Amino acid sequence: MIRTLLALLTFAVGLRAAERPNIVFIFCDDLALQAMSCYGDKRKLLDTPNMDRLAKEGMRFDRCLVTNSICGPMRAVIQTGKYSHANGFYNNSNSKFDSSQPTFPKVMQKSGYQMAVIGKWHLMTDPVGYDYWNVLPGQGAYYNPPMIENGKPVKYEGYCTDIIGDLTLKWLDSRDKTKPFMMMCQHKAPHREWEPPLRLLGFDNDRVYDEPETLFDAYSGRSKAVSDHDMGIDRTFTERDAKLVMPGNLTAEQKQAWNAYYEPRNAKYAAAAPTGRDLVKWRYQRYMHDYLACVKAVDENVGRVLDYLDKNDLTKNTVVMLSSDQGFYLGEHGWFDKRWVFEESVRTPFLARWPGVIPAGSSNSQLTSLVDLASTFTDMAGAPPMEGLHGRSLVPIMKGETPADWRKSHYYHYYEYPVPHRVRPHYGVITDRYKLIHYYKPDVDDWELLDRQKDPLETKSFYNDPEYADTVKELKAEIIRLQKELGETMPPPRFAHGNKAFDNEPQPPEQPKKKGKGKKKAE
Ligand code: CA
Repeated sequence: MIRTLLALLTFAVGLRAAERPNIVFIFCDDLALQAMSCYGDKRKLLDTPNMDRLAKEGMRFDRCLVTNSICGPMRAVIQTGKYSHANGFYNNSNSKFDSSQPTFPKVMQKSGYQMAVIGKWHLMTDPVGYDYWNVLPGQGAYYNPPMIENGKPVKYEGYCTDIIGDLTLKWLDSRDKTKPFMMMCQHKAPHREWEPPLRLLGFDNDRVYDEPETLFDAYSGRSKAVSDHDMGIDRTFTERDAKLVMPGNLTAEQKQAWNAYYEPRNAKYAAAAPTGRDLVKWRYQRYMHDYLACVKAVDENVGRVLDYLDKNDLTKNTVVMLSSDQGFYLGEHGWFDKRWVFEESVRTPFLARWPGVIPAGSSNSQLTSLVDLASTFTDMAGAPPMEGLHGRSLVPIMKGETPADWRKSHYYHYYEYPVPHRVRPHYGVITDRYKLIHYYKPDVDDWELLDRQKDPLETKSFYNDPEYADTVKELKAEIIRLQKELGETMPPPRFAHGNKAFDNEPQPPEQPKKKGKGKKKAE
């Protein structure tokens, strides 16, 4: 009897295997959707023809949200399909991923998928559930990056994004072609310090970029949590961010190319010696040149992967997805970086192409989330669903069949404080129109209500407006409902993984602001 059942099961798995799609997941670090032409930002910052091809041939998700807007935590959310409080990885300062817990790559591998991850990993423990891994240690380096290939240190010469592209194509070529595969191609770019490929220096011919409307946000009528940050273009930008100093690991030839571009421009800057608003404006222009050149290199490498799939007859049966661990501020509210629940960093780019399944040129504005990816991947692969996840498969949405009970609200919780950017912990709920946010530690206890319909730039709070009293009441009840559903207890207990930001002990003193050279951050 058992033998017959097993035989039947093997037969069913075999049948399913024949039609199982390959998955290429292209994942960026800190990619702002404002920098992708398919999302239509009004500044028209950059043309991204290869990302646009994915949007044109697949689906553009317009409201894909993150649960905790920083690098490591979102990567842990993707691996596990669970929020930070359930997977134990809260922040980049002292969290370590517990790789003994259930993750989607383990499930996919067990169900017959060949799994590979190349590029940025940033979970502080080695990848588990992958047949091949070749990852950057920690944040990694843009130029001549050391990497770790299946546990062994290796070193490459060249530009990180191109190297990750090369390694991706190499693995695709050398893989076991009898099995379906999942390739996670995870770029470091365009993470701070936005160091461009030398071949693209000056790609924009010294274009003057339009500024965002909120570059000089005064944060009036907002919580102290919002104004007392340390991630401003005005106050936090270092010489390294501004490329007034060179990174330390360039070859002689690379140094020459770097200097040929930056030296004359830096000399002009030194002569002008801008201050105040003029300094912010100068930094914003430098930031856009460097950041966008990094994104352009990612786009070119997306093109190389799509070409490879075309040439090897893989396009039809390969799902290609592109996303980022969160969005990013390109000067909005005077900021770079991420962390906040505000739209630019809570919303992340997400494109998916699956020929014959996802209607070409479609878009979707449901509240979707990166917490949905683990369920989505296993669903696509026909692997057994994982138990107790916080996300749901996006496959029905991709087919244009949104389930009637799809989420109408999304829970958010950011924990890391005080370093590196003095963004106070906050949690809240996001709906189609509103956000209700509570800044609760350590020296603030402020609520803010945002109304994206009335105030799309999110520059004021309606929390104390009597007209919104019912909305506030409903959203507070919704937060409690979501916390219960997700199993988050408030205030968060002392974490097993040692997040000192939540100990009932005095906070460490605020870091004095360092001016200038290469401030080291854990972000
Ligand atoms: Ca990131």
